[in-house]
Amino acid sequence: MGKTVFCYDLPVFHKSPAMPDHNFDLHCHSNVSDGMLPPAELVARAAAQGVTVLSLTDHDDVAGLEAARTAALAHNIQLVNGVEISVTWGSHTLHIVGLQIDPAHPVLRMGLEGIRHGRSERAEKMAEQLDKAGIKDSLHGAYQHASNKNLIGRMHFARYLVDQGIVKDVRTVFKKYLVKGKPGYVSHQWATLAEAVGWIVASGGQAVIAHPGRYQMGSGKMHELLEEFKNLGGVGIEVVTGSHTPEQFPLYANLAQKFGLLSSRGSDFHAPGEGYRDIGRLPALPELCKPIWHDWVGC
Ligand code: AMP
Ligand code: MN
Ligand code: MN
Ligand code: MN
Repeated sequence: MGKTVFCYDLPVFHKSPAMPDHNFDLHCHSNVSDGMLPPAELVARAAAQGVTVLSLTDHDDVAGLEAARTAALAHNIQLVNGVEISVTWGSHTLHIVGLQIDPAHPVLRMGLEGIRHGRSERAEKMAEQLDKAGIKDSLHGAYQHASNKNLIGRMHFARYLVDQGIVKDVRTVFKKYLVKGKPGYVSHQWATLAEAVGWIVASGGQAVIAHPGRYQMGSGKMHELLEEFKNLGGVGIEVVTGSHTPEQFPLYANLAQKFGLLSSRGSDFHAPGEGYRDIGRLPALPELCKPIWHDWVGC
């Protein structure tokens, strides 16, 4: 039976990669988290780039969805309610995307509120460590880049360092300062995998493992993750994402098939010119994939 989605006052969609006139982008960020465009501008850009079904998946916050929905109506594209939840799984930080969530659901709302709390304290520690590495005033600088002060994160620090001319681009800032083992990295306890999947499922959504190719884990560990994720009620995995190289697409398509997971597709767009892929500019899912949207129906 088809999954019932929320009522959007928009045309019915039932798409597959075999229908190239429809363009799904199910992962992107607005300035409610660490993207640079306000939700309405992000939606306008998506529409201009030919996206027909968009999910806004801000980190740990759903505050942009209402403005995104209004803009989606104006641009005649379909908006899917989304979120990207930060998770600590053993020594790994993972991201779990929730699609078709109900942003008003109390379990999800309270869960997200809980994980947002720790961000300000982490930012203070990051700034202290960066100060010791000779980078001054980064707390103030990072906050200047954060439209939503509750969502202060590494990207805001990265943009400050680029702004100051300390490092040439955000990718290099991460490499030199913000990843494990570097001066500005502060380890942090996010949600558990069970919590993140549980909140998404409780709110009627579909849990999807974001950009699996980015996690530095061997194949044994990845299998362990997919097994556990499935047992917890997770249903999808990103196969085509702006965070994967084209060589990784078939690799994760095969894993999706092996574990009976649905495949998702999203740019992980943050800001013009900042990442590898612009919003809506992605290849189709490999043929063998069963798309996460295979049973989505309009209403
Ligand atoms: P945070 O949630 O504050 O730890 O920040 C995580 C965000 O930083 C991710 O969602 C990406 O937007 C960004 N990020 C993480 N690693 C990298 C990287 N190596 N290069 C560029 N951006 C990154
Ligand atoms: Mn991000
Ligand atoms: Mn992510
Ligand atoms: Mn993301």
